[in-house]
Amino acid sequence: MVTMKEKTLEELQDEFNSLTRKRNQTILDLEEATKKLVELAEKIYEKSPDYVKIVCPSCEGTGIINTEEGKKVKCPSCQMRGFVWARKHKGVDKLNDD
Ligand SMILES: [Zn+2]
Repeated sequence: MVTMKEKTLEELQDEFNSLTRKRNQTILDLEEATKKLVELAEKIYEKSPDYVKIVCPSCEGTGIINTEEGKKVKCPSCQMRGFVWARKHKGVDKLNDD
């Protein structure tokens, strides 16, 4: 019969610390991947003929939103860039082809 050996306090602490390090590294990796994805999406939009930059409809291009409480906050739609990418309406190309 196999008996489970209970872990010592030191073993439990080591396991806890090891998993904490792994968790923190995973968060850093996730942040790095998200940053790269945002940069890649930007490059894809710039190269794509289907997307155009438009003035941010949420903040009118100011990058700042006035909240109902009267506070000024960073525009969540454009992240203070003042523009957002929009996909062209199919009718736009048809008009230009004439
Ligand atoms: Zn905006």
